[in-house]
Amino acid sequence: MKAPNFAYLRATDLPGALAALDSYGTGARILAGGQSLMPALNFRLDVPEVLIDINGVAALTGIEIQGDVIRIGALTRHAELEASAVIAAEAPLLAAAVRHVAHPAIRNRGTIGGSLSLADPAAELPACMVALEAELVLASSAGSRTIGAAAFFRGLFETDRRPNEILVEVRVKRQTPNRRHGFAELSRRHGDFAVVGIACQADVADAKVAALRLVVFGSESFPRVASHAAAAAQGRVLSRALRDDIVAALLEDLDPSDNLQGGAATKRQWAQILAGRVVAQITAA
Ligand SMILES: Cc1cc2nc3c(=O)[nH]c(=O)nc-3n(C[C@H](O)[C@H](O)[C@H](O)COP(=O)(O)OP(=O)(O)OC[C@H]3O[C@@H](n4cnc5c(N)ncnc54)[C@H](O)[C@@H]3O)c2cc1C
Repeated sequence: MKAPNFAYLRATDLPGALAALDSYGTGARILAGGQSLMPALNFRLDVPEVLIDINGVAALTGIEIQGDVIRIGALTRHAELEASAVIAAEAPLLAAAVRHVAHPAIRNRGTIGGSLSLADPAAELPACMVALEAELVLASSAGSRTIGAAAFFRGLFETDRRPNEILVEVRVKRQTPNRRHGFAELSRRHGDFAVVGIACQADVADAKVAALRLVVFGSESFPRVASHAAAAAQGRVLSRALRDDIVAALLEDLDPSDNLQGGAATKRQWAQILAGRVVAQITAA
């Protein structure tokens, strides 16, 4: 099928993009990498009045260190994250996860801002942002606001973004010497969306867990923080017993959906297996 008719505006700066968003309201869609939006239009799952192309807005690009955070512009392509020495050194969880996002052709166009705004429950980057306790910066013509990633993702393809806002950047805390990460996902083929995945960040001091942030995605309707698993890990010595206890506690956190990808009971089991692998990555590091 072909996309329905729509008007097209190419913004050259952020105020221009925001002004266009104000004039078209809910009839407007931001066009970033187009890797999810264009298929949705072609399938006529969405019929917007106008596309506001932000690819010419230089202020939305770039990865840079600013004090103790990394600023990642919303237009940063997945391939740029993958190739970035800053991301590899300062946010290794992101570097590990982004290789699981689709295939090189899609990673060359798809953007971090598009992935986070879309909030596909099976996408890798939203889960990493929650694990990393990233902050998302949203701009409107009235000003800008910052929101924590865990509060931003509200449900299936649902975020806290208002129709007049553009996600402009993501701010991630820089790596510290005692920080470890783990990532694992189950997908039908490498590059497919995850059926179940786990992104995890842990602070370890004196071979004990000071803080664990384990996030389950794919099987849940939004990136779910595993609070029972975190409680089971708190203050514990890194060991095989710790791994078993985290895996057992995780069951209390899960609320998987039954769908064509698998039944809820199966997904619980997959999540536990993946959690075991992720915790092993953290204890082995
Ligand atoms: C075959 C295929 C396989 C894929 N596999 C995976 C996968 O395994 N994992 C995965 O995570 N993704 C996967 N994707 C999706 C891909 O990662 C997309 O790049 C991503 O979902 C959307 O990014 P985009 O820049 O292309 O956004 P677009 O398609 O341009 O936009 C997506 C949505 O976000 C909105 N939007 C975009 N940018 C902003 C912004 N800055 N502010 C506010 N709203 C904005 C748009 O209006 C639209 O509603 C796959 C896509 C395809 C086609």
